[in-house]
Amino acid sequence: LTRQKAEKVVGWARSHYLSSAVLPSIKGDRLIIPRESLDVAIERLKEQGIKTKRPSQNIKNLAKDEYERNFISAVVPPDEIGVKFDDIGALEDVKRTLDELVTLPMRRPELFSHGNLLRPCKGVLLFGPPGTGKTLLAKALATEAGANFISITGSTLTSKWFGDAEKLTKALFSFASRLAPVIIFVDEVDSLLGARGGAFEHEATRRMRNEFMAAWDGLRSKESQRILILGATNRPFDLDDAVIRRLPRRIYVDLPDAQNRMKILKILLAKENLESDFRFDELANSTEGYSGSDLKNLCIAAAYRPVHELLEEEKKGGPCSQNTGLRPLKLDDFIQAKAKVSPSVSYDATSMNELRKWNEQYGEGG
Ligand code: ADP
Repeated sequence: LTRQKAEKVVGWARSHYLSSAVLPSIKGDRLIIPRESLDVAIERLKEQGIKTKRPSQNIKNLAKDEYERNFISAVVPPDEIGVKFDDIGALEDVKRTLDELVTLPMRRPELFSHGNLLRPCKGVLLFGPPGTGKTLLAKALATEAGANFISITGSTLTSKWFGDAEKLTKALFSFASRLAPVIIFVDEVDSLLGARGGAFEHEATRRMRNEFMAAWDGLRSKESQRILILGATNRPFDLDDAVIRRLPRRIYVDLPDAQNRMKILKILLAKENLESDFRFDELANSTEGYSGSDLKNLCIAAAYRPVHELLEEEKKGGPCSQNTGLRPLKLDDFIQAKAKVSPSVSYDATSMNELRKWNEQYGEGG
């Protein structure tokens, strides 16, 4: 990097950034770029023909004590997640909302470091029936936002370290502040932070919950603004007001309609060998009630049919029939596979109603 080019980056930053805390500077023969403005700086450098990558963090070294070290294996860096928004069919509105709420403040924190109106959101809830892509969205969001991803469930914090759950919770947040930007994905958030005060609630669980809430509220420092708690649940109605309040954006991830099932099927089958003129519309229309996850299972079951046929033929016809290869998938394979893979029964009409009501009262979209 020449001095001149480095000065260009700094000059650009001076004229565009609002907060001096995130300004790059030149010290001796080094260009020092604060972590918050790395993504923008890398973009500017690219424009000047200098290819550079975000330096990878050594996650192991960021853990300070035995409690924090428990989370090392749970952290996935953004370039290792392997799912992007384009891999998710349908759900366009949800992706757009998440982009604005999460990707922008994580990628461009300098735009949010001024004044009080624009504050990055610290809690987002994805709720909806099982298998609709909530986990997939959470992972893809971390990729898009260039954020580290940690997935936790109730048992991450309670089972192994029972009694120490409080300390472990504290460690999760202190470790996360060094991993920022980071998305902490709490799957089945109702089981971790569900309605409190039940008669059988264990004292340690109660203390862990209180610690979780307190640490969450404590996310006020500059770096901790790039920590997001992203909760997912099929049972939002089990959440109490204290949790709902801390998840101010609640996004409904609904079952796909026919048009959206078609989009999902096109993604799931993008690399498959299909008969020409495959009738996606017909398959989409005949899979009412199927979630994205059900559709995936249906596709897998259908894809086995030509395999089974080939094996059968080999058994019957001996070695000469071995080189015919697999035939393309037909619509009929899917229709037949429906007998094996029906829409998840776990979500009945009553639960769907409950979900929709909760969405009307607390949620957005859907
Ligand atoms: P949830 O967290 O809502 O229960 P998941 O995200 O775990 O659902 O979905 C399970 C699997 O179903 C995903 O890994 C993916 O293969 C498939 N799937 C679900 N929704 C979609 C979608 N909209 N587009 C593509 N695949 C999907």
